[in-house]
Amino acid sequence: MIDILGLPLDKLVKIMQVEYGKGPFHAQALYREVFKNGGTDIDHSPEFKGSPRLWSDLGKALCILPGRVEKTIEEGGLVKFITRLADGLAIESVVIPMTRHNTLCVSSQVGCKMGCKFCQTARMGFKRNLSASEIVGQVFNARHILGHDIKNIVFMGMGEPFDNFEALMTAVEVLSSQKGCDIALRHMTISTCGVVPGIERLAQMNLPNIRLAVSINGPDDATRSALMPVNRTWPLAALKKSLETYPLPPRGVFLFEYILIKGVNDAMDHARSLARFIHPLPVRLNLIPYNPVAGFDHLSPSDEQMHEFAQQLTDKGVFVIKRWSRGRSVSAGCGQLGEI
Ligand code: SF4
Repeated sequence: MIDILGLPLDKLVKIMQVEYGKGPFHAQALYREVFKNGGTDIDHSPEFKGSPRLWSDLGKALCILPGRVEKTIEEGGLVKFITRLADGLAIESVVIPMTRHNTLCVSSQVGCKMGCKFCQTARMGFKRNLSASEIVGQVFNARHILGHDIKNIVFMGMGEPFDNFEALMTAVEVLSSQKGCDIALRHMTISTCGVVPGIERLAQMNLPNIRLAVSINGPDDATRSALMPVNRTWPLAALKKSLETYPLPPRGVFLFEYILIKGVNDAMDHARSLARFIHPLPVRLNLIPYNPVAGFDHLSPSDEQMHEFAQQLTDKGVFVIKRWSRGRSVSAGCGQLGEI
């Protein structure tokens, strides 16, 4: 079986050589037909049209298994879609329209182990890791089944990407291949809740252009540990140390996410501590108002609180972007995936 969605091109070349006596020419054609054209017409491509025997053998082994898009929910251009996987479990992905292109928010696990206290996915518990093929399948479905022009990927959906490191990195390799999906590394963002060994492993992979986002949500260990149990294993000092040694490209920045929760992490003292934690890291901070999640008692901040918190940070020299939540009514906002 050739599960092509999870197969880097060099591995496909090897299979073509060993199993079919062919090489890069046919492997690249297969990659192009699957990832650029959706794989519906491979036998009519110039490379395979003249080799019906090859296609007949290959066609029996080739599997394109992105999962079945079961439901799409739309709000103002933002589309959440639910994919049913082969074992019956389901995952969610979100197409986010940007000014010039679409971003796809991709899941890396079914559920999550991390237990963040503002997150719907955490409430599902952890079911299993996704395979590289299932991660890439979300992009395949968004492009070829739903017809969206996806240029950016954010690994920010269900799950902690670094908790599924191998499959994540294989998916990154497949997605970034110019012969296939052709999504540049600089258009991919891996978002972690602060799994320090994952940050360190990524740092060693020599992929400086891939963007790293970190969910902060608490500027001191007490506040952060109460919201994010991961902080008890890797507290803020360990997190900062891993970022200080991370090989950012020239003029590169970390993306920090801070979900502002009324009465929990929104005091001016929190803003000042956050600014101290950030200094001197190069950071772009996304400030996001908490999205109500069933089962948690937290409240959203007012617009005024958002402005004041952002202003305090800006005054301390932090680059802040206020992200007004999109997709609240379809439960596609930050921390809301998992209401399947
Ligand atoms: S916020 Fe991310 S890491 Fe935390 S529980 Fe939710 S999916 Fe997992």
